[in-house]
Amino acid sequence: MKKVLVAILLAPALLSAQSRAKNVVLFLADAGGIPTITAASLHATGVSRGLFIQKMPNIALSDTSTASQIVTDSAAGMTAIVTGYKTHNGVISQSADTVRGKTDGAPLKTILEYAEEHGLSTGLVTNDSLTGATPSALYAHANERAQSALIFQQAFAPRFGDGVDVMIGPGRAAITKSLAAAGTDLDTIATRTKRPIHAALSDVPADARRAIVMLDSSAFDLEEAVLAAQRILSRNKKGYFLMVEGDTHTDNVRVGLDRMVALDKTVARMASVVGRDTLLVFTADHSFDIALRGGLLGKPLLDGLEAEQAKAAEEKRRNIRIPAVRMDNGHAGEPVMIAAMGPGADRVRGYMLNTDIFKVMMQAFGWKADDAVPQTAQR
Ligand SMILES: [Zn+2]
Repeated sequence: MKKVLVAILLAPALLSAQSRAKNVVLFLADAGGIPTITAASLHATGVSRGLFIQKMPNIALSDTSTASQIVTDSAAGMTAIVTGYKTHNGVISQSADTVRGKTDGAPLKTILEYAEEHGLSTGLVTNDSLTGATPSALYAHANERAQSALIFQQAFAPRFGDGVDVMIGPGRAAITKSLAAAGTDLDTIATRTKRPIHAALSDVPADARRAIVMLDSSAFDLEEAVLAAQRILSRNKKGYFLMVEGDTHTDNVRVGLDRMVALDKTVARMASVVGRDTLLVFTADHSFDIALRGGLLGKPLLDGLEAEQAKAAEEKRRNIRIPAVRMDNGHAGEPVMIAAMGPGADRVRGYMLNTDIFKVMMQAFGWKADDAVPQTAQR
């Protein structure tokens, strides 16, 4: 009898503890819409539901529109996901009264900034660029995504906490060039802020609690980098927030699908590494204009691709037509998938807005968003 009573008394406490996440990992497939996920699954496994992300326990749809456009870019898309507010294409985590390339709006506080404010460790891993629109939207506020030097320097001048603890990704050549145009360089920034900028993952000290790794190319092992980031960030007993971006644009169909498969493997691996205190969320900022138009199960999905690519190059066109796949080079405005597991994952259900993903992460951490929102910002 006593045991039963104790169990009943403990149940609500256990429940609330389980719905709280200590850590949140957001996996962002850039341009990885449902057609790309399905095609990647067929390409890699021969069946249309062979990927790990397709079997996560909580799945929902997400609208991807901006404050003004039907089809989003990564800047407005990621701003919505990580701040809870829609803005316009090209704008990095600033409110909807921003005029792109001309006038700053109000800075929108990001999930990474909330995490820093709460004393958590924060990180990002990308195979696009460290100043690409997707990671930028976590740590910077800019009226134009192309302002690479300004954006990069904001990573070293945080508004909350001590800023992004772990940054791993390519972009060294382009960022170096844009910093030079702005009259500075990597060494100056690293010295002034006492933050070494490593050129390889293997240069990071074994007991590091923070690390910046700036690579030359996107051809690195995403899974290895993400596991390294997770090891570093989990040294903070308070928890961590980590964002992982896989560039899954399928303008090169095979490269894009292979990258989706690699991202999926990374999600699966992380699911086996993190504890039950970690919320894993997978989504895309927008879809891409790729479609399955035919083909037979049991046959390679990309049969004929290389010949068609050669022909397309000759004819100076960027679209691809093979028996199974049609690709018209551009973003698409259809809804994308959200998949989640771990504490708070049950809030991922139904047909959601991209801005709802911010709320899911905040609620999982048990945090309330600041009241003071810019007048013109739109939820
Ligand atoms: Zn994107």
